[in-house]
Amino acid sequence: MDGISQITVPGFDVWCLEDGTQSFDADVFPGLSLEEQESRLSAAGESEIRTAFNVFLILGEDGTLTLVDTGCGSHFGPGAGALSTRLTALSIDPAKINNLVFTHLHTDHCGGALWDDAKAFPNATIYLHGAEWAYWRDQDALARQVLAVYDDALVEVSDGDAIAPGLNVWSLPGHTPGHIGLRVGDGLVIVGDVVHAQHLQMGEPRLCPTYDMDPMTATDSRLNALREVADRGLTFGGSHILGPTKFAKLAEVGDGFVIVAP
Ligand SMILES: [Zn+2]
Repeated sequence: MDGISQITVPGFDVWCLEDGTQSFDADVFPGLSLEEQESRLSAAGESEIRTAFNVFLILGEDGTLTLVDTGCGSHFGPGAGALSTRLTALSIDPAKINNLVFTHLHTDHCGGALWDDAKAFPNATIYLHGAEWAYWRDQDALARQVLAVYDDALVEVSDGDAIAPGLNVWSLPGHTPGHIGLRVGDGLVIVGDVVHAQHLQMGEPRLCPTYDMDPMTATDSRLNALREVADRGLTFGGSHILGPTKFAKLAEVGDGFVIVAP
């Protein structure tokens, strides 16, 4: 189906739902000259720093439905906000979502959480890292409104906590204070925002976008996450990984990584 990829791992069916796409400006990566950016993009057959906004839907063997992030909603223009269309295509009623995990609370991850200022997922329990809640509750951002609307459904989590059996929090701080990924069974991980532009960053994982709030910590998390994916032969999905192959593996090559087919 358009904008939807699916993978099955022991215990779980997982879908990647593409909420939309966009291109970054070159100044999002100030650590890389324009010439070097263009050279890496053209080597990948690209002319822009394209990115995708990905949401993940996880169905456990017990029927539990977990949504990871909510995409952009109406906040990133007509090129994004397709989550509700994707859910409809899968015949998933938003009211049937049991768990909603926020990797973090940037607007392209929580923008689809509200519908006319009310809960878009009225029966979901919301999971987010305690450091994320502590940071955003005082910020003048959509995140604060999301936290207020879902206040009665919030559960703070930390590294290793189980969202559901076999579904565990992976703390990957730095992009934001409480940025997390998710371990899905033994063979799949969702790494959230550790990579924003795969053609620029996979080969040079120390390269940060301006969106990384704590670049040194974000770099450590990026290296740790990508290295574990490569070393353990895990399949990974990421919030900004481009299609068409949304679930892939990694090989460590030199100082960086290359995406290989699943
Ligand atoms: Zn982000």
